Amino acid sequence: MSIAANIKKIKEELPSHITLVAVSKTNPAEKIQEAYETGQRHFGENKVQEMVAKANQLPTDIKWHFIGHLQTNKVKYIAPFVHLIHAVDSLKLLQEIDKQAKNNSRIIDCLLQVYIATEETKFGLSEEEINTLLSNTIIGELNHINVRGLMGMATNTNDVGQISKEFDAIHRLHLRINASGKFKHFDILSIGMSNDYRIAIQNGSNLIRVGSSIFGERNY
Ligand SMILES: *Cc1c(COP(=O)(O)O)cnc(C)c1O
Repeated sequence: MSIAANIKKIKEELPSHITLVAVSKTNPAEKIQEAYETGQRHFGENKVQEMVAKANQLPTDIKWHFIGHLQTNKVKYIAPFVHLIHAVDSLKLLQEIDKQAKNNSRIIDCLLQVYIATEETKFGLSEEEINTLLSNTIIGELNHINVRGLMGMATNTNDVGQISKEFDAIHRLHLRINASGKFKHFDILSIGMSNDYRIAIQNGSNLIRVGSSIFGERNY
């Protein structure tokens, strides 16, 4: 099926409060343009250079989501235009985003990445690490970031029960942080990819990151 048909099909089944981020990593600008022409505006990339290059050649009303691991020394390249940074996993990174946002006279929206899977992956914070981070008073002094919510990736498995359990855990953490009143607009839960977005939506997701179901399998 075409990119347009894939987007249409996914959108038809999405409740209206859910944001669809089309994960365009590894796909050329022409494919993004094709998706753009269907009205799609949110796109996700996981490499700084690739996102900057694409942003420079595509329409300026695209909302760029940075969904990969972000190194502090690269924040400055995306700070002028990034819409939402999904995978923040340290206070140091939050401080750098705040600094670069200030340099650009912006406030940048961020999500904290929570480690919910059982498999070994390098990135994301445990619930305990999140608690420690949130209890740090420095966060309250960062005026150029908005911590908008949480992002997570479930274990890559066909076990629906396990995926549900992991998404439920991050959903409950999200509700708890929101209820604490620490952040004014703590309203985004970024969970769900091509293979598990339906399960994510049942567990409170309001932003899904879908790549291969839109653009086809990636060739690295
Ligand atoms: C690649 C990627 C996606 C999209 O994965 P698909 O399985 O192709 O939908 C979503 N989130 C993150 C963080 C990714 O790196």
